[in-house]
Amino acid sequence: MKAEIIAVGTELLLGQIVNTNAQFLAGQCAAMGVHVYFQTVVGDNAERLTQSLEIARGRADVVICTGGLGPTQDDMTKDVLAAYTGRGLVMHEPSLAYMTSLFQSRGTPMVESNKRQALMLEGSDPLPNDTGLAVGVALTHEGTHYLLLPGPPKEMKPMFERYGSQWLASQMGSGGRLYSRMLKFAGIGESALEAKLLDLIEGQNDPTIAPYAKEGEVTIRLTTQANDKQEADGKLDPTQQEIASRLGEYLYADEEIPIEQTIYRLLKERGETLAFAESCTGGLLSDLLTNVPDSSSVLAGGIVSYTNAVKHAMLGVPMELLEGEDAPGAVSEETARAMAEGVLSRLGTDYGVSVTGVAGPSPSEGKPVGLVYLGLAQRGRETVVIKTQQWGNRESVKWKSAKAALYHLWRRLAEQAN
Ligand code: ATP
Repeated sequence: MKAEIIAVGTELLLGQIVNTNAQFLAGQCAAMGVHVYFQTVVGDNAERLTQSLEIARGRADVVICTGGLGPTQDDMTKDVLAAYTGRGLVMHEPSLAYMTSLFQSRGTPMVESNKRQALMLEGSDPLPNDTGLAVGVALTHEGTHYLLLPGPPKEMKPMFERYGSQWLASQMGSGGRLYSRMLKFAGIGESALEAKLLDLIEGQNDPTIAPYAKEGEVTIRLTTQANDKQEADGKLDPTQQEIASRLGEYLYADEEIPIEQTIYRLLKERGETLAFAESCTGGLLSDLLTNVPDSSSVLAGGIVSYTNAVKHAMLGVPMELLEGEDAPGAVSEETARAMAEGVLSRLGTDYGVSVTGVAGPSPSEGKPVGLVYLGLAQRGRETVVIKTQQWGNRESVKWKSAKAALYHLWRRLAEQAN
């Protein structure tokens, strides 16, 4: 199936807002195996919107419009599609009843124009709006599928995820509903990951395989259509197993969770504890871990040892390592080791993780921006230090370093779990 996304709104053309709806919908379509070949932006103008619909119909099977479902006169998407398809507009009574009760409970009068938001096209299916008022529209007309979604992303996203995508899937033929599974990777970039899965991605059919990247982590969304969860699992499991056999050392979860959550679970299962000694990440590791509820049962604490004096006083890093002509310096393998071991022994934990590096924008100690050492001390095992080179601005170096440190800790925990 080929799709075209039409974002309606003069604000978009004036550069007042960014078209994040198209980005979201394009990702959703890709995950469903619907190919988006064109994206259009058009202002609140009936004639030009009609032209856009006419062009889209000629080159797409699915036309997804966002925006212009509101109560005011410049909200005209439903009227334009009604005129274009020659269908009338009818009141969707359940939406009107909901709207009426909402206005009543708020004690505000409902004006006539509000009722426009409960209109739909004759012969169309309503898409409930769980987070707003305007009802969405799903319609198949002369072989083309149309979805009309509201403009505000907080309304558009749930409407598409909960109802629009299901409707679209049902139009795609095989019946059933969509089931997705998120595979979460760390320690590998998107292109390296894609390179290892290229044959699967290129030959994908069912399930579809869609990679997404964020800094420091990559997600793959597997999607299939099935009548129930058991059938879906039967289709998703073999693809997941194939991906895991190629990339298992990076695959930390098969659900939408950050790596710190997996680390928390593994430590909790084993009754072990952790402490951080951070320099260039400035407390980010502690921040990430404490986002996980109940993290106090595994995280003893963290020391942000930004200056040499604090590295020495709080973590016991010898001054000879930090200062002096022949000293390796604060950004070095030796200091990372001493920091990890220092925090482990001072906080009495099972693991000590350290990060020391140059976040930028200028080099430090004659060392390049992005050079970062990650230390991992474990009770009863030799400390390991990994030298990394991160790229990007200061914020990005900090973020990627924190995620890289968590990745190495997770590898250690996962190895021991096997
Ligand atoms: P409303 O009932 O709020 O009028 P609507 O469906 O008529 O909703 P618009 O009036 O077109 O939608 O847009 C309302 C708001 O939604 C915009 O001011 C903007 O903040 C957001 N919005 C609209 N289109 C997009 C888009 N393509 N990407 C991101 N945000 C958008």
